[in-house]
Amino acid sequence: MTTTISLTRTDRPKAKPRDEELSFGKFFTDHMFLMDATADHGWHSPRVVPYGPLSLDPSAAVLHYSQEIFEGLKAYRSPRDTILLFRPDKNAARLNRSAARMCMPPVDEAMFLDAIKAVVATDRDWVPGAPGTSLYIRPAMIATEPFLGVRPAQTYSFFIILCPVGAYYAEGFNPVRILVEDHYVRAVKGGTGEAKTGGNYASSLASAEEAHHKGYSQVLWLDGVERKYIEEVGSMNIAFVIDNALVTPSLSGSILDGVTRDTTIQLAKDWGIRVVERPITIEEVFTASHNGRLQEAFGMGTAAVISPVSELAYKDEKLTISNGKVGPLAQRLFDEISDIQRGVKPDPHGWVVEIH
Ligand SMILES: *Cc1c(COP(=O)(O)O)cnc(C)c1O
Repeated sequence: MTTTISLTRTDRPKAKPRDEELSFGKFFTDHMFLMDATADHGWHSPRVVPYGPLSLDPSAAVLHYSQEIFEGLKAYRSPRDTILLFRPDKNAARLNRSAARMCMPPVDEAMFLDAIKAVVATDRDWVPGAPGTSLYIRPAMIATEPFLGVRPAQTYSFFIILCPVGAYYAEGFNPVRILVEDHYVRAVKGGTGEAKTGGNYASSLASAEEAHHKGYSQVLWLDGVERKYIEEVGSMNIAFVIDNALVTPSLSGSILDGVTRDTTIQLAKDWGIRVVERPITIEEVFTASHNGRLQEAFGMGTAAVISPVSELAYKDEKLTISNGKVGPLAQRLFDEISDIQRGVKPDPHGWVVEIH
């Protein structure tokens, strides 16, 4: 990459939160990465600047027609005090698939990685070191052109912001209760479910609110046409252990191609576990449970890594999974992935990238 990234340091560094104060998405570091594009001339002016508000025209396309995409990954502090990224190439490739779907300009994948390295290196003192903590990295792209009209914008900004985040399981590795959504739908084949775009989340809020009122922390989405095939959880993919095999919905075109999902599949195969990616109905999961064949269920995503499911509620029926406890495969995957990410265990697949 020949483009140099300019650096303007803040003259007002913030007080850093203590590790015990950390939660998700609440504190932001001193700097951010920013660059701009015109549809004709591509990206220019890559820079690391003090963290602060963006200036946008009220008519900016993103504010009206949601031409927006984002990514999410983490930087980890290893016991040797090095700063490590986990599979950032997967995020770069997915950003560009999302960009293509939303008619936005691609970001050179080497540039994406250089930008992350530059801003994380600038704020490396913000990467927390306590067990389970990390620095969450949020790259995002927005359409900035001041124009009201439904067509791809002519100008864009790409930025990366960083937040130190606490251990996801502050009170231990706790299973979650999930409501199977049978009214709202998240995505359909041919829609935008495969893209990491803000609109998918805006449209999920009503469902999540209703689930919270009923005492569930998340919803499990079913397919948008027949309402019977399992898709994914809010911001995680889902997997089941049935008859000792790991079963997870195939990438059908309406779910997100998660990095943690891919990592889970690879590790399970390495361990000699049978992995099946196929359509799976909610009926089948309930039947497997009634027949004593459903052993575990868990979500997979960057924020939580592995999120064991203790209960599924669908219509009037409730299912308790793994006796409400953390299953052995969920535990093994959580430990292994967390240890690889933190540079504690060997990295046979070359997933870890060090930031110098
Ligand atoms: C980001 C996301 C995931 C998880 O992807 P990871 O790359 O594993 O973090 C799953 N589903 C949706 C809808 C997402 O937005």
